[in-house]
Amino acid sequence: METKFWELKKNPEEMIAEAAGLIAAGEIVAFPTETVYGLGADGLNAEAVVKIFAAKGRPADNPLILHIADTEQILPLTTGLNANAMALMETFWPGPLTIVVPRSDLVPDIVTAGLDTVAVRMPSHPVAAALIRASGCPIAAPSANVSGKPSPTNAQDVAEDMTGKIAGILDGGSCGIGVESTVVDTTSPVPTILRPGGITREMLEERLGAVEIDPALNGDPALKPKAPGMKYRHYAPQAPIFLYEGAQAAQRLFEAVLRAQKLGLHAGVLCDDAVKKQLEESLWRGHTVEILSWGSGKPDLAEHLYELLRDFDRVSPEFIIGMGVDEKGLGLAVMNRLRKAAGYQILLAEEDNIIVKSGSGFPEFLLIGDN
Ligand code: AMP
Ligand code: MG
Repeated sequence: METKFWELKKNPEEMIAEAAGLIAAGEIVAFPTETVYGLGADGLNAEAVVKIFAAKGRPADNPLILHIADTEQILPLTTGLNANAMALMETFWPGPLTIVVPRSDLVPDIVTAGLDTVAVRMPSHPVAAALIRASGCPIAAPSANVSGKPSPTNAQDVAEDMTGKIAGILDGGSCGIGVESTVVDTTSPVPTILRPGGITREMLEERLGAVEIDPALNGDPALKPKAPGMKYRHYAPQAPIFLYEGAQAAQRLFEAVLRAQKLGLHAGVLCDDAVKKQLEESLWRGHTVEILSWGSGKPDLAEHLYELLRDFDRVSPEFIIGMGVDEKGLGLAVMNRLRKAAGYQILLAEEDNIIVKSGSGFPEFLLIGDN
Protein backbone atom coordinates (compact mmCIF):
# COMPACT_ATOMS: atom_id res chain seq x y z
CA MET A 1 0.00 0.00 0.00
CA GLU A 2 1.20 3.49 -0.76
CA THR A 3 1.57 5.61 2.38
CA LYS A 4 0.93 9.35 1.94
CA PHE A 5 3.17 11.68 3.91
CA TRP A 6 1.63 15.07 4.64
CA GLU A 7 4.03 17.76 5.85
CA LEU A 8 1.74 20.11 7.70
CA LYS A 9 3.46 23.36 6.83
CA LYS A 10 1.19 24.92 4.24
CA ASN A 11 -2.52 24.13 3.75
CA PRO A 12 -2.82 22.01 6.89
CA GLU A 13 -6.65 22.12 6.74
CA GLU A 14 -6.74 20.50 3.29
CA MET A 15 -4.33 17.77 4.33
CA ILE A 16 -6.19 17.10 7.56
CA ALA A 17 -9.47 16.92 5.59
CA GLU A 18 -7.93 14.38 3.21
CA ALA A 19 -6.65 12.29 6.14
CA ALA A 20 -10.06 12.53 7.86
CA GLY A 21 -11.75 11.33 4.64
CA LEU A 22 -9.52 8.25 4.65
CA ILE A 23 -10.37 7.53 8.30
CA ALA A 24 -14.10 7.92 7.61
CA ALA A 25 -13.63 5.48 4.70
CA GLY A 26 -12.18 2.84 7.03
CA GLU A 27 -8.45 3.43 6.44
CA ILE A 28 -5.63 3.97 8.95
CA VAL A 29 -3.79 7.28 9.35
CA ALA A 30 -0.99 8.19 11.80
CA PHE A 31 -1.25 11.60 13.49
CA PRO A 32 0.57 13.65 16.13
CA THR A 33 -0.71 14.15 19.66
CA GLU A 34 0.91 15.98 22.58
CA THR A 35 2.09 12.64 24.02
CA VAL A 36 3.25 10.38 21.13
CA TYR A 37 2.10 9.70 17.55
CA GLY A 38 -1.12 7.69 17.23
CA LEU A 39 -2.30 5.18 14.64
CA GLY A 40 -5.91 6.17 14.03
CA ALA A 41 -9.01 4.44 12.67
CA ASP A 42 -12.76 5.05 12.96
CA GLY A 43 -13.30 3.74 16.49
CA LEU A 44 -16.84 2.59 15.80
CA ASN A 45 -15.90 0.58 12.69
CA ALA A 46 -14.64 -2.85 13.75
CA GLU A 47 -13.26 -3.68 10.29
CA ALA A 48 -11.17 -0.51 10.28
CA VAL A 49 -9.91 -1.15 13.82
CA VAL A 50 -8.73 -4.64 12.82
CA LYS A 51 -6.29 -2.95 10.44
CA ILE A 52 -4.61 -1.17 13.37
CA PHE A 53 -3.87 -4.48 15.07
CA ALA A 54 -2.50 -5.85 11.78
CA ALA A 55 -0.26 -2.82 11.06
CA LYS A 56 1.24 -2.86 14.57
CA GLY A 57 1.32 -6.59 15.11
CA ARG A 58 -0.55 -5.81 18.33
CA PRO A 59 -1.91 -8.72 20.41
CA ALA A 60 -5.73 -8.80 20.23
CA ASP A 61 -6.06 -8.84 24.04
CA ASN A 62 -4.68 -5.28 24.29
CA PRO A 63 -7.54 -2.73 24.09
CA LEU A 64 -7.33 0.67 22.38
CA ILE A 65 -8.02 4.21 23.55
CA LEU A 66 -10.86 6.14 21.86
CA HIS A 67 -9.87 9.75 21.13
CA ILE A 68 -12.51 12.47 21.10
CA ALA A 69 -12.48 16.21 20.43
CA ASP A 70 -15.47 17.43 22.46
CA THR A 71 -16.61 16.39 25.93
CA GLU A 72 -20.14 15.38 24.80
CA GLN A 73 -18.59 12.85 22.41
CA ILE A 74 -17.96 10.52 25.38
CA LEU A 75 -21.67 10.21 26.24
CA PRO A 76 -22.70 7.62 23.59
CA LEU A 77 -19.59 5.55 24.38
CA THR A 78 -20.43 4.91 28.05
CA THR A 79 -23.34 3.76 30.21
CA GLY A 80 -22.49 6.39 32.80
CA LEU A 81 -19.84 8.67 34.30
CA ASN A 82 -19.30 8.93 38.04
CA ALA A 83 -18.15 12.02 39.96
CA ASN A 84 -14.47 11.08 39.68
CA ALA A 85 -14.69 10.67 35.92
CA MET A 86 -16.42 14.02 35.54
CA ALA A 87 -13.91 15.78 37.79
CA LEU A 88 -11.01 14.37 35.76
CA MET A 89 -12.56 15.37 32.44
CA GLU A 90 -13.24 18.87 33.69
CA THR A 91 -9.75 19.38 35.08
CA PHE A 92 -7.42 17.60 32.67
CA TRP A 93 -9.15 17.55 29.27
CA PRO A 94 -7.99 18.26 26.70
CA GLY A 95 -4.65 16.76 27.76
CA PRO A 96 -2.57 13.63 28.41
CA LEU A 97 -5.13 11.80 30.57
CA THR A 98 -7.11 8.70 29.57
CA ILE A 99 -10.07 7.63 31.70
CA VAL A 100 -11.44 4.09 31.86
CA VAL A 101 -15.26 4.14 32.11
CA PRO A 102 -18.10 1.60 31.67
CA ARG A 103 -18.59 0.95 27.96
CA SER A 104 -21.80 1.13 25.94
CA ASP A 105 -22.89 -1.34 23.24
CA LEU A 106 -21.91 1.16 20.56
CA VAL A 107 -18.22 0.40 21.16
CA PRO A 108 -17.03 -2.60 19.13
CA ASP A 109 -15.59 -5.54 21.11
CA ILE A 110 -12.31 -5.31 19.26
CA VAL A 111 -11.69 -1.82 20.69
CA THR A 112 -12.07 -2.94 24.30
CA ALA A 113 -10.63 -6.45 23.79
CA GLY A 114 -13.91 -7.73 25.20
CA LEU A 115 -13.65 -5.79 28.52
CA ASP A 116 -16.78 -4.14 29.93
CA THR A 117 -14.95 -0.81 30.16
CA VAL A 118 -13.60 1.55 27.50
CA ALA A 119 -10.62 3.95 27.64
CA VAL A 120 -11.28 7.50 26.39
CA ARG A 121 -9.04 10.54 25.98
CA MET A 122 -9.36 14.07 24.61
CA PRO A 123 -5.96 15.10 23.21
CA SER A 124 -4.93 18.77 23.26
CA HIS A 125 -2.80 18.68 20.10
CA PRO A 126 -4.51 20.93 17.53
CA VAL A 127 -3.87 18.50 14.64
CA ALA A 128 -5.36 15.59 16.60
CA ALA A 129 -8.41 17.66 17.57
CA ALA A 130 -8.94 18.89 13.98
CA LEU A 131 -8.59 15.36 12.60
CA ILE A 132 -11.14 13.93 15.05
CA ARG A 133 -13.63 16.73 14.27
CA ALA A 134 -13.17 16.41 10.51
CA SER A 135 -13.56 12.63 10.51
CA GLY A 136 -16.79 12.86 12.52
CA CYS A 137 -16.10 9.82 14.72
CA PRO A 138 -14.15 8.90 17.85
CA ILE A 139 -10.72 7.79 16.65
CA ALA A 140 -9.32 4.55 18.08
CA ALA A 141 -5.57 5.00 18.29
CA PRO A 142 -2.69 3.20 19.95
CA SER A 143 0.85 4.50 19.62
CA ALA A 144 2.04 4.39 15.98
CA ASN A 145 4.94 1.96 16.51
CA VAL A 146 5.31 -1.70 15.65
CA SER A 147 4.40 -3.59 18.85
CA GLY A 148 7.42 -3.95 21.12
CA LYS A 149 9.29 -0.90 19.80
CA PRO A 150 9.41 2.46 21.57
CA SER A 151 6.47 4.76 20.77
CA PRO A 152 7.26 7.25 17.98
CA THR A 153 7.58 10.91 18.97
CA ASN A 154 8.22 12.27 15.48
CA ALA A 155 6.85 11.48 12.00
CA GLN A 156 10.15 9.99 10.76
CA ASP A 157 10.02 7.31 13.45
CA VAL A 158 6.42 6.58 12.42
CA ALA A 159 7.51 6.29 8.78
CA GLU A 160 10.27 3.86 9.79
CA ASP A 161 7.69 1.50 11.33
CA MET A 162 4.58 2.10 9.19
CA THR A 163 5.51 2.94 5.59
CA GLY A 164 3.64 0.59 3.24
CA LYS A 165 1.27 -0.56 5.99
CA ILE A 166 -1.10 2.41 6.43
CA ALA A 167 -2.84 5.02 4.24
CA GLY A 168 -0.98 8.09 5.49
CA ILE A 169 1.10 9.97 8.06
CA LEU A 170 0.37 13.52 9.20
CA ASP A 171 3.70 15.14 10.11
CA GLY A 172 3.10 17.66 12.87
CA GLY A 173 6.69 17.78 14.16
CA SER A 174 7.94 16.42 17.49
CA CYS A 175 5.61 15.56 20.37
CA GLY A 176 6.05 17.87 23.37
CA ILE A 177 5.42 15.45 26.24
CA GLY A 178 7.00 12.33 24.80
CA VAL A 179 5.51 9.65 27.07
CA GLU A 180 1.99 8.26 26.67
CA SER A 181 -1.09 9.48 28.51
CA THR A 182 -1.80 8.56 32.12
CA VAL A 183 -4.51 5.87 32.20
CA VAL A 184 -6.84 6.12 35.24
CA ASP A 185 -9.53 3.57 36.06
CA THR A 186 -12.50 5.56 37.36
CA THR A 187 -14.63 2.46 37.94
CA SER A 188 -12.69 1.15 40.97
CA PRO A 189 -13.66 2.32 44.51
CA VAL A 190 -10.47 4.42 44.66
CA PRO A 191 -9.37 5.85 41.28
CA THR A 192 -6.37 3.82 40.13
CA ILE A 193 -3.46 4.68 37.86
CA LEU A 194 -3.14 1.79 35.40
CA ARG A 195 -0.36 3.48 33.44
CA PRO A 196 1.63 6.49 34.69
CA GLY A 197 2.02 9.25 32.11
CA GLY A 198 1.90 12.95 31.33
CA ILE A 199 -0.53 13.82 34.15
CA THR A 200 1.26 13.04 37.40
CA ARG A 201 -0.02 11.23 40.47
CA GLU A 202 0.43 14.46 42.44
CA MET A 203 -1.82 16.36 40.00
CA LEU A 204 -4.51 13.66 40.22
CA GLU A 205 -4.38 13.58 44.03
CA GLU A 206 -4.71 17.32 44.24
CA ARG A 207 -8.02 17.04 42.38
CA LEU A 208 -9.41 13.72 43.66
CA GLY A 209 -7.80 13.03 47.03
CA ALA A 210 -6.29 9.55 47.35
CA VAL A 211 -5.33 7.78 44.13
CA GLU A 212 -3.94 4.25 43.94
CA ILE A 213 -1.34 2.83 41.60
CA ASP A 214 -1.88 -0.62 40.09
CA PRO A 215 0.56 -2.71 42.20
CA ALA A 216 1.48 -4.79 39.15
CA LEU A 217 3.36 -1.80 37.70
CA ASN A 218 6.44 -2.41 39.83
CA GLY A 219 7.49 -5.30 37.62
CA ASP A 220 6.50 -8.21 39.87
CA PRO A 221 5.80 -10.97 37.31
CA ALA A 222 3.34 -12.66 39.71
CA LEU A 223 0.88 -9.74 39.43
CA LYS A 224 -1.34 -9.16 36.38
CA PRO A 225 -1.63 -5.49 35.32
CA LYS A 226 -5.18 -4.12 35.01
CA ALA A 227 -4.25 -2.37 31.75
CA PRO A 228 -3.58 -5.43 29.57
CA GLY A 229 -0.92 -3.58 27.55
CA MET A 230 1.30 -3.05 30.59
CA LYS A 231 2.23 -6.74 30.72
CA TYR A 232 4.15 -6.59 27.46
CA ARG A 233 7.88 -5.87 27.31
CA HIS A 234 7.71 -2.56 25.44
CA TYR A 235 10.26 0.07 24.83
CA ALA A 236 13.28 -2.17 24.58
CA PRO A 237 16.28 -1.40 22.40
CA GLN A 238 18.17 -4.42 21.05
CA ALA A 239 21.13 -4.02 23.44
CA PRO A 240 20.50 -4.91 27.11
CA ILE A 241 20.19 -1.94 29.46
CA PHE A 242 21.63 -1.90 32.98
CA LEU A 243 20.16 0.87 35.07
CA TYR A 244 21.69 2.66 38.06
CA GLU A 245 19.17 4.24 40.39
CA GLY A 246 19.45 6.07 43.71
CA ALA A 247 21.27 9.10 45.07
CA GLN A 248 24.69 8.01 43.70
CA ALA A 249 23.42 6.85 40.29
CA ALA A 250 25.20 9.53 38.25
CA GLN A 251 28.53 9.06 40.05
CA ARG A 252 28.42 5.25 39.76
CA LEU A 253 27.52 5.44 36.10
CA PHE A 254 30.42 7.82 35.49
CA GLU A 255 32.92 5.45 37.14
CA ALA A 256 31.49 2.41 35.36
CA VAL A 257 31.82 4.07 31.96
CA LEU A 258 35.50 4.81 32.62
CA ARG A 259 36.01 1.14 33.51
CA ALA A 260 34.16 0.08 30.34
CA GLN A 261 36.55 2.21 28.32
CA LYS A 262 39.57 0.60 29.97
CA LEU A 263 38.11 -2.80 29.13
CA GLY A 264 37.70 -1.70 25.50
CA LEU A 265 33.94 -2.27 25.53
CA HIS A 266 31.55 -0.71 23.05
CA ALA A 267 29.19 0.64 25.67
CA GLY A 268 26.12 2.82 25.20
CA VAL A 269 25.48 5.42 27.90
CA LEU A 270 22.13 7.02 28.70
CA CYS A 271 22.51 10.05 30.96
CA ASP A 272 21.74 13.74 31.36
CA ASP A 273 23.77 16.57 29.81
CA ALA A 274 25.79 17.25 32.97
CA VAL A 275 27.09 13.66 33.17
CA LYS A 276 27.74 13.59 29.43
CA LYS A 277 29.87 16.71 29.71
CA GLN A 278 31.79 15.27 32.65
CA LEU A 279 32.39 12.04 30.69
CA GLU A 280 33.54 13.82 27.57
CA GLU A 281 36.12 15.67 29.63
CA SER A 282 37.40 12.43 31.14
CA LEU A 283 37.34 9.84 28.35
CA TRP A 284 40.33 9.24 26.09
CA ARG A 285 40.26 10.55 22.57
CA GLY A 286 38.96 7.93 20.14
CA HIS A 287 36.96 6.17 22.85
CA THR A 288 34.37 3.58 21.83
CA VAL A 289 31.62 4.76 24.15
CA GLU A 290 28.34 6.09 22.70
CA ILE A 291 26.88 8.72 25.02
CA LEU A 292 23.29 9.80 24.41
CA SER A 293 21.93 12.45 26.75
CA TRP A 294 18.41 13.73 27.29
CA GLY A 295 19.06 17.31 28.40
CA SER A 296 18.40 18.23 32.00
CA GLY A 297 15.38 17.48 34.16
CA LYS A 298 12.45 15.09 33.92
CA PRO A 299 10.46 16.90 31.21
CA ASP A 300 13.51 16.62 28.90
CA LEU A 301 13.88 12.94 29.77
CA ALA A 302 10.19 12.29 29.03
CA GLU A 303 10.37 14.21 25.76
CA HIS A 304 13.48 12.45 24.44
CA LEU A 305 13.46 8.98 26.02
CA TYR A 306 11.89 7.05 23.14
CA GLU A 307 13.92 8.84 20.51
CA LEU A 308 17.09 7.95 22.43
CA LEU A 309 16.07 4.31 22.79
CA ARG A 310 15.57 4.17 19.01
CA ASP A 311 18.92 5.92 18.47
CA PHE A 312 20.68 3.20 20.46
CA ASP A 313 19.47 0.67 17.91
CA ARG A 314 21.17 2.77 15.22
CA VAL A 315 24.56 2.80 16.98
CA SER A 316 24.27 -0.84 18.20
CA PRO A 317 26.36 -0.89 21.39
CA GLU A 318 27.08 -4.21 23.16
CA PHE A 319 25.07 -3.00 26.15
CA ILE A 320 23.73 0.25 27.56
CA ILE A 321 24.46 1.71 31.00
CA GLY A 322 21.74 4.13 32.08
CA MET A 323 20.93 6.28 35.07
CA GLY A 324 17.47 6.75 36.55
CA VAL A 325 15.72 9.66 38.24
CA ASP A 326 13.48 9.75 41.33
CA GLU A 327 9.79 8.91 41.00
CA LYS A 328 8.30 12.27 41.92
CA GLY A 329 6.15 14.03 39.31
CA LEU A 330 6.91 12.88 35.77
CA GLY A 331 9.57 10.58 37.27
CA LEU A 332 6.91 7.89 37.88
CA ALA A 333 6.06 7.69 34.16
CA VAL A 334 9.60 7.86 32.81
CA MET A 335 10.96 5.35 35.33
CA ASN A 336 8.10 2.96 34.50
CA ARG A 337 9.17 3.08 30.82
CA LEU A 338 12.90 3.04 31.52
CA ARG A 339 12.73 0.08 33.92
CA LYS A 340 10.72 -1.87 31.39
CA ALA A 341 13.23 -0.99 28.68
CA ALA A 342 15.93 -2.28 31.02
CA GLY A 343 14.02 -5.51 31.64
CA TYR A 344 14.18 -4.53 35.35
CA GLN A 345 17.97 -4.98 35.49
CA ILE A 346 18.47 -2.40 38.21
CA LEU A 347 21.40 -1.51 40.46
CA LEU A 348 20.66 0.64 43.49
CA ALA A 349 23.47 3.07 44.22
CA GLU A 350 22.91 4.74 47.59
CA GLU A 351 25.78 5.90 49.79
CA ASP A 352 28.96 4.03 48.88
CA ASN A 353 27.75 0.55 47.99
CA ILE A 354 25.88 -0.83 45.02
CA ILE A 355 23.22 -3.45 45.52
CA VAL A 356 21.32 -5.45 42.94
CA LYS A 357 17.73 -4.26 43.20
CA SER A 358 16.46 -6.67 40.57
CA GLY A 359 17.74 -8.67 37.62
CA SER A 360 20.77 -10.85 37.08
CA GLY A 361 23.66 -11.27 34.68
CA PHE A 362 25.27 -7.90 35.44
CA PRO A 363 28.82 -7.54 34.09
CA GLU A 364 31.23 -7.60 37.05
CA PHE A 365 32.59 -4.08 36.41
CA LEU A 366 29.17 -2.54 37.04
CA LEU A 367 29.00 -3.90 40.58
CA ILE A 368 32.08 -2.18 41.96
CA GLY A 369 31.33 0.60 44.46
CA ASP A 370 33.76 2.96 46.20
CA ASN A 371 37.24 1.50 46.06
P1 AMP B 1 -1.50 2.51 23.70
O1 AMP B 1 -2.64 2.24 22.81
O2 AMP B 1 -0.23 1.92 23.21
O3 AMP B 1 -1.36 3.94 24.08
O4 AMP B 1 -1.92 1.77 25.02
C1 AMP B 1 -3.18 1.95 25.62
C2 AMP B 1 -3.13 1.39 27.02
O5 AMP B 1 -4.42 1.52 27.66
C3 AMP B 1 -2.78 -0.09 27.02
O6 AMP B 1 -1.91 -0.37 28.09
C4 AMP B 1 -4.12 -0.73 27.20
O7 AMP B 1 -4.02 -2.03 27.74
C5 AMP B 1 -4.82 0.24 28.13
N1 AMP B 1 -6.29 0.16 28.04
C6 AMP B 1 -7.06 0.46 26.99
N2 AMP B 1 -8.36 0.23 27.27
C7 AMP B 1 -8.43 -0.21 28.54
C8 AMP B 1 -9.48 -0.63 29.41
N3 AMP B 1 -10.76 -0.62 29.02
N4 AMP B 1 -9.15 -1.04 30.65
C9 AMP B 1 -7.86 -1.03 31.06
N5 AMP B 1 -6.82 -0.66 30.28
C10 AMP B 1 -7.09 -0.25 29.04
MG1 MG C 1 1.83 1.75 22.76
